[in-house]
Amino acid sequence: MTPDPLAPQIGGRPIRRAGGPLRGMGGRLLTAAAAGAAAELAALGLIAAAAWMITRAAEQPPLAALSVAIVAVRAFATSRGVFRYGERLAGHDVALRAQATTRERLYEALIPSGPLSHRGADLLSRMVDDTDAVQDLLVRCLLPAVAATVTAVAAVTLAVFLLPAAALVLLAGLLVAGLLLPAATAVAARRWSARLAPARAELAARVADLVHGAADLAAYGAGEQALAASAEAGARLAALERRRSRANAAALALGTLVQGLTVAGIVLVALRAGIGQVPTAVLALTALVSFEPILPLAAAGERFAGVTAALRRLREIRATPPVVPEPAVAAAPPEAPLTVQVRDLVVRHAAGRAAALDGVSLTLTPGRRVAVVGPSGAGKSTLLSALMRTADFESGDILINGTAIGDLSPDDVRERITGLTQDPYVFRASLRDNLRLAGPEADEEELARAVHRARLDTWVERTGWDATLGEDGRTVSGGQLQRLALARALLRDPDVLLLDEPAESLDGATADALMADLLDVTHGRTTLLVTHRLHGLEGVDEIIVLEDGRVVQRGHHDELVATPGYYRDVWRSEALTARTG
Ligand code: ADP
Repeated sequence: MTPDPLAPQIGGRPIRRAGGPLRGMGGRLLTAAAAGAAAELAALGLIAAAAWMITRAAEQPPLAALSVAIVAVRAFATSRGVFRYGERLAGHDVALRAQATTRERLYEALIPSGPLSHRGADLLSRMVDDTDAVQDLLVRCLLPAVAATVTAVAAVTLAVFLLPAAALVLLAGLLVAGLLLPAATAVAARRWSARLAPARAELAARVADLVHGAADLAAYGAGEQALAASAEAGARLAALERRRSRANAAALALGTLVQGLTVAGIVLVALRAGIGQVPTAVLALTALVSFEPILPLAAAGERFAGVTAALRRLREIRATPPVVPEPAVAAAPPEAPLTVQVRDLVVRHAAGRAAALDGVSLTLTPGRRVAVVGPSGAGKSTLLSALMRTADFESGDILINGTAIGDLSPDDVRERITGLTQDPYVFRASLRDNLRLAGPEADEEELARAVHRARLDTWVERTGWDATLGEDGRTVSGGQLQRLALARALLRDPDVLLLDEPAESLDGATADALMADLLDVTHGRTTLLVTHRLHGLEGVDEIIVLEDGRVVQRGHHDELVATPGYYRDVWRSEALTARTG
């Protein structure tokens, strides 16, 4: 992945990073924070009023003297529930909205970056788990912290009026439990995750070996050893997890201890000052309750460490520049029919590496079919990537109806120049929906026509349009998969059809049948076909042979089989295999 120049600077400013998805939600956030704070204040008021009422009642005053306190207790008790409900509603509303915005932005950042396979295996977990972190940041860290701060300020203020010395003790206790402990758990969580991550990765790798290598392990009787190795990795991780849980539990217990000590200290100070029973009870109970929103902050501190790491990972993805830059002002999209001219194209995948394409030129006029052949690594797929704008080029140019491709919006280009990708994917969806991916508006007739042209009719009739394909669904053979992908490409009907190794990984007979149908159906269509099989290429207008990124031969099939070189060698060996096989 391209190194992320922004990540280190952003690393130190976690809250600001979450500010992005919250833009325009200030009102909702404020409502949630206010409702949360109000709920905590009501709880504090409830205890203060109740403490006052009970201790005062013990002095047996006339009932009228208690009536205000009775009303206050009822009002605080009811309003606490209402405020808590409001906080949950508003808090989750804003958190879920922020999460949705984060996901949307992440997808937007990924789309122009081309194939996802080059972006690391953890991308999926980033997209799912890390975006949950935005929700946790708000609901489990930010809003509770606001409510806890408001409660602490209110409790200390009340204590100042009753006995300033007690207020000092309370302030000290609240600072330890609400600031020091959460900061310590956040730091500890960061350290623990650095220690746990390799242990977790080790276990995942061992289990993956067990699952994917089960047949080989069984064949060579190495199962016991592999099982023991993964059990050991599991035990190591469990031991670390146990130690972490003990440390966390200790931090939480420490909070409760601080709470107890603070209340005891306040009672002691109040008794010494001799302020009387009622204020002492009010002080002690208020102090006790003021810790309630403070104590969970230790756990929030731990989560905060995870949240900031998740947000940093998301930021890294978003900060990765797209592989091809958008033009400042995009030229008008080209109108069909398209003529594509590739001139002296040089593509280098990374600085300092050999060019994957080195001075390649070709012209695709409307209706012309060009095949690109060559050994693996010759640069064939790179040429298609350059045309689809999923790879940029270093020099040379690609002109579409005379307009430089760089002046066009990459989306406009991909809409017109696209087709069958190298590893077509079957989604876990119905056969119909798997096709509609390429033409969401297509009606039944258009779908049937595409299926017919890809020679998939019999299979579709047997399988049924509504059969679920993909993972856990009906298995699709290699040949059917390629034909399905071809049907998709035909349904999309791009101005320039790109076909990347359609016969890849198919056996000889299936590959030949597919190539024959494919060449039949592309007749009269502007097509660029990348293939390692030469069978059937007699019908295309031009064949370009690439080796090490350079064009080494070009011409019609008849010319190429008459000339010594890669094309003639492969052609002969294919013919030999066909005869002997
Ligand atoms: P072909 O399709 O002919 O097999 P490719 O176009 O896939 O060849 O690859 C040409 C060269 O570029 C190879 O050396 C390959 O390793 C390299 N290459 C292809 N794609 C990438 C990429 N995304 N990043 C870095 N190198 C790449």
